[in-house]
Amino acid sequence: MAAAFRNEMLYAEPYVAQKSYQLVRLDGSGSREDTQASGVRNRQLFGLDSNELGACMVEVGEPAWRGRQLAEAIYCQRITELSEITTLPKTLRTRLALEGWEVGRPWIIQLFQSSDGTERYLVQGQAADALTVETVWMPEGDGGETGDGSDPEKPNGVDRRWERATICVSSQVGCAVNCQFCLTARLGLQRNLSAGEIAGQVLAVFDRHGVEVGRDRVNLVFMGMGEPFLNYDNFMGAVRLLVEEVGLSPRRMTVSTSGIVPGIERFAQEPAELRPKLAISLNAPNDEIRGQIMPINRKWPIEAVIAAVGRLQLRPRERITFEYVLLGGVNDRPEQAAELARLVRRTGIAAKVNLIAWNPGPGIAYATPQPEAVDAFRVALGDGGIPVYLRKPHGRDIYAACGQLKRTVEG
Ligand code: SF4
Repeated sequence: MAAAFRNEMLYAEPYVAQKSYQLVRLDGSGSREDTQASGVRNRQLFGLDSNELGACMVEVGEPAWRGRQLAEAIYCQRITELSEITTLPKTLRTRLALEGWEVGRPWIIQLFQSSDGTERYLVQGQAADALTVETVWMPEGDGGETGDGSDPEKPNGVDRRWERATICVSSQVGCAVNCQFCLTARLGLQRNLSAGEIAGQVLAVFDRHGVEVGRDRVNLVFMGMGEPFLNYDNFMGAVRLLVEEVGLSPRRMTVSTSGIVPGIERFAQEPAELRPKLAISLNAPNDEIRGQIMPINRKWPIEAVIAAVGRLQLRPRERITFEYVLLGGVNDRPEQAAELARLVRRTGIAAKVNLIAWNPGPGIAYATPQPEAVDAFRVALGDGGIPVYLRKPHGRDIYAACGQLKRTVEG
């Protein structure tokens, strides 16, 4: 679901971006064309968990425990070529390749770099349609801001420019939800991503930035292209891979939904050790306004969404996030902030509100809120007793959000 992060990033000013973005074509080794040229219909190991990999090994006459070796290689060591998985005997690697197996992890084919360190990627998997999705890397607290004389290139002695970061991950190609302020909605839904295509975005970005699991502070937000709860099984399949195979914590993951009630109800049943945090893209204090800007509200109005959210067993100190994209003259008045505060208080849910000032997108008839209006809204919400955060924009100069990036690069 495109909400907090997506919206703050998506609607960057196109003219600024056209002037300043850098586009880099990356090596596509192991590309779809290469594998197709072999004439063998390739089968991807990436996306299967240890047990499924074990079943594949049994299928080719090997013991099931080889599945664990494979999982260690592709998810922990992040090896992307079958020939380089040296924990498997060479003869087995050769045999697997002849039978059409490959690692098949998605890879970054293009990137945009922002002056603020944000990077946006076009990521492609092995599917025959060659459709791409967007993934975004947002470093925070990078060197130069430390002001303590430390080497910004090597914080804590590590050769890199960031100390913590957030990756925004896509769950579908396009989106069917049709939020009126969102450019991705203009694409419609092209298809769901598989669990491997979702998790693969994360590992491709990990490799680019040398992320070491267990050492580095990286948060994941499932707020890129698409509505994760309309691709629920594959979304949770990806979470399972990232938690159980890669070793990430679900507490460092947040999924945002436009309010798909059956999805929220399923999500509430997930075990705490697997469940990411939840964000609801609310964007209005009442059904009337929400119905205008988010047609999905006619199917699942605010009360139904809130009732479903109320079924979640929150962990200690966990809060639900309500995301609120401020659209100038539509939902940004102080009285609407007061109404929103009443709504959030009435739910009785431990919650906070993330405000995002909308930036214009081509062909979308909304206005950017005035800075004074944003501030007044934030203050009114705070006065109403609601924890409120104003999201700072990331990568505005690269004009590279889901729908926009595909249009500017591929269209
Ligand atoms: S249309 Fe889809 S991608 Fe865009 S904001 Fe709505 S749910 Fe998110």
